[in-house]
Amino acid sequence: MYLRYKYSPTQSFKILSTPTIISNYSLKTLNTFGVDVAARRFAAFRSVVGLSSLLDQDKDIFLLGGGSNLLLTKNIDKLVLKNEIFGIQIVERSKHKVLVKCGGGEQWHDFVLWCVGMGFGGIENLSLIPGCVGTAPIQNIGAYGVELKDVMHSLDAFDIQNKVMRTFSNEDCKFAYRDSIFKNQYKDQFCITSVTFELTTVDHKLSLDYGNIKDMLSDKNIDKLTIKDISEAVISIRQSKLPDPDVIGNSGSFFKNPIVDDITLEQIKKQYPDLRYFDHGEGSYKIPAAWLIDKLGLKGFRNGAAGIYDDHALVLVNHGGASGIELYDHAMVVRDKVRDAYGVELVPEVNVL
Ligand SMILES: Cc1cc2nc3c(=O)[nH]c(=O)nc-3n(C[C@H](O)[C@H](O)[C@H](O)COP(=O)(O)OP(=O)(O)OC[C@H]3O[C@@H](n4cnc5c(N)ncnc54)[C@H](O)[C@@H]3O)c2cc1C
Repeated sequence: MYLRYKYSPTQSFKILSTPTIISNYSLKTLNTFGVDVAARRFAAFRSVVGLSSLLDQDKDIFLLGGGSNLLLTKNIDKLVLKNEIFGIQIVERSKHKVLVKCGGGEQWHDFVLWCVGMGFGGIENLSLIPGCVGTAPIQNIGAYGVELKDVMHSLDAFDIQNKVMRTFSNEDCKFAYRDSIFKNQYKDQFCITSVTFELTTVDHKLSLDYGNIKDMLSDKNIDKLTIKDISEAVISIRQSKLPDPDVIGNSGSFFKNPIVDDITLEQIKKQYPDLRYFDHGEGSYKIPAAWLIDKLGLKGFRNGAAGIYDDHALVLVNHGGASGIELYDHAMVVRDKVRDAYGVELVPEVNVL
């Protein structure tokens, strides 16, 4: 069986047992907004043992993955630790399913492409989301009708205070829309070192009903679509809609889509009969935050180098040289305008530090 390389925390420990700590380290290239701030101290770890040895030196830490869900408004006066635990391992394989364990430092999109290449299905709609595998469970990443919770079997995490490993099942993670136990009860208490996924090897259940995936694949025979077709369609759609952080700094969707009750929904609909919304169950409704912002004519709304992207109302962008504070203030102006217009409070999806 082909494996790119094997997940093995102890083996990688031999490669880098004592990570080096660097003082006053620029994080400009390590956050997708491209904000120029520094870490008081910085180190990368490639194994659980390496992480543990760093924690022996300093427990006042900040964990960094791909920096794609972060708005840094100031220097980080902590030891910033970058997760570089790599490797992929097939743990178990049956007739229809496979369990694949992936190191938390792997790039999410690389892992998705690897799965698609291996013919493992379930994860293809999550193509091209930036960031690391170990961070993906924290906000239960989602796109095009699929969320991480739909494919995650379990994860391993290092308890930072007690310095022990713990395994969390899918249920333990208390996943919800852009949410998990790691954003709430266990915020900043665990470092996710690896994630295990349960994927299909045959009879893949394709998710085509979200966004314009079907339109994108209209020239293909719908009965013969493959997970590779879906992945490629999602990549094309995303590339046409979202700015590439390497070209223009951003963190994807800045706000979560608000969930409202039926009374609020009816109130907004009276004023905006063309309101878009989705049933979220139990008398609640999800409204696309992009729709609310776009309706107020805020695409391209700009203050200096901080702005809303011209082609997508939910994406806050750094046109070059904006500070984290300037970006945050601009986002709050947008939040206030939405509150004044609809009575709905937008909440950042991005972690503001
Ligand atoms: C262009 C663009 C498009 C995007 N599209 C989507 C999308 O479609 N759907 C979606 O859900 N998200 C999307 N995002 C957001 C982002 O990609 C995800 O939230 C991603 O999971 C963040 O991963 P990261 O490694 O970059 O996290 P980081 O930004 O590095 O960290 C985020 C938080 O997790 C903590 N953390 C980091 N690593 C660990 C660890 N190993 N253990 C515990 N805590 C940790 C950090 O301290 C921080 O609080 C998009 C972002 C961009 C820039």
